[in-house]
Amino acid sequence: MDIEKIKQLDKQYYSPVFGERLPVCFERGEDVFLIDSNGKRYTDFLSGIAVNCLGYSDAGFKQALKDTVDSLLHTSNYFYSQTQASLAELLCKASGYDNVFLANSGAEAMEGALKLARKLHCNNGRARLRFVTMRGSFHGRTLLALAATGQEKFHTPFLPLPWAFDYITPNDIAALKAAVSADTAAVVIEPIQGEGGLLEITPEYYAAMRSLCDRHGALMIADEIQTGMGRTGTLLASSSLGAKPDIIVLAKALGNGVPVGAFLAHGAAAQAFEPGDHGSTFGGNRLACAAALYVTQKLVRTDLLTQVSKTGAYFKKKLAALKESCADIIEVRGRGLMLGIKLSDSLPAKEIQKKLLSLGFVTATAGDNVLRFLPPYVIGHAHIDALADALNSVFV
Ligand SMILES: *Cc1c(COP(=O)(O)O)cnc(C)c1O
Repeated sequence: MDIEKIKQLDKQYYSPVFGERLPVCFERGEDVFLIDSNGKRYTDFLSGIAVNCLGYSDAGFKQALKDTVDSLLHTSNYFYSQTQASLAELLCKASGYDNVFLANSGAEAMEGALKLARKLHCNNGRARLRFVTMRGSFHGRTLLALAATGQEKFHTPFLPLPWAFDYITPNDIAALKAAVSADTAAVVIEPIQGEGGLLEITPEYYAAMRSLCDRHGALMIADEIQTGMGRTGTLLASSSLGAKPDIIVLAKALGNGVPVGAFLAHGAAAQAFEPGDHGSTFGGNRLACAAALYVTQKLVRTDLLTQVSKTGAYFKKKLAALKESCADIIEVRGRGLMLGIKLSDSLPAKEIQKKLLSLGFVTATAGDNVLRFLPPYVIGHAHIDALADALNSVFV
């Protein structure tokens, strides 16, 4: 089908929430490339928003899905599931958490994590209604996840939002101290703000959050939906920040394209839910678990995480060099293969993104005029060099 026809159908029949989309329709993936309906080839520095971590030619991944389709796609959480049990074991052992719940998306997993925090305090005999979250954060699109999101533009059309959220400036320990109290159910933090523009949380702040949560009996929840599953070079970004949150929320890369979310809990939080407190029809179904099990095995049993660190370091150096020669690049941000460049206001990141797209590079934007790169973990140095050349040509 012709792209103009697709655009017209979309405009007429799809909810207008995505507005004018980028004018490309991808039909095939290969290695780290996407091929559009005209046969044009693009190098992928977006991965379907930090999702397609293994790229597009992992034969083992495809086989795992095919085997599941051929045997049985879905049963129900009324029954036991070997793939689900094996995935739960591997995720917990690899992360050091006690148990996991599987959901269908990031926002849904976030909702579950917030519910879990509420339940723990309820079990302890005193409901806690307040949550502390960060300005510039993004936690999802359901009403509660939206309320957790510390960006006004997402709130305005939907006020009043449920429950009580206190938004504070990240990396400001004094503000954190002032915000956390005996009324706080949990503090929610992204180790690196994804949609917010790649602000990195400092280890000092992470440690202060951990000890404040302990002091006040509040839970620490890390939204690792974007940073988790190897994106920053370790399975969890939290582990390189030196403090262990009570709950970790995952999604995006977990299924390498099959929709799946999760939250991991340990200690008292892992025991807070009782039968009937939470559930899902689709969550943790055989297809999602086959995908997530394969991805997790790949991260745990091969040197892919080391590759992410090394490639990420190379990529970041390349961006830093570019910054030296380009006054419009204000800052290089991020870690591992979650990187970005903050651009001067005179150069809208959206425009650069479009130019790169026409040159055959798929990228993202974020937050305060940041051009964001989230390539598949198997991206190579040559692809990065090519992107840097393209960036160079776009900037001059
Ligand atoms: C993408 C994202 C979400 C929302 O996930 P969905 O699957 O779109 O619901 C929440 N938090 C963070 C940090 C994200 O990057």
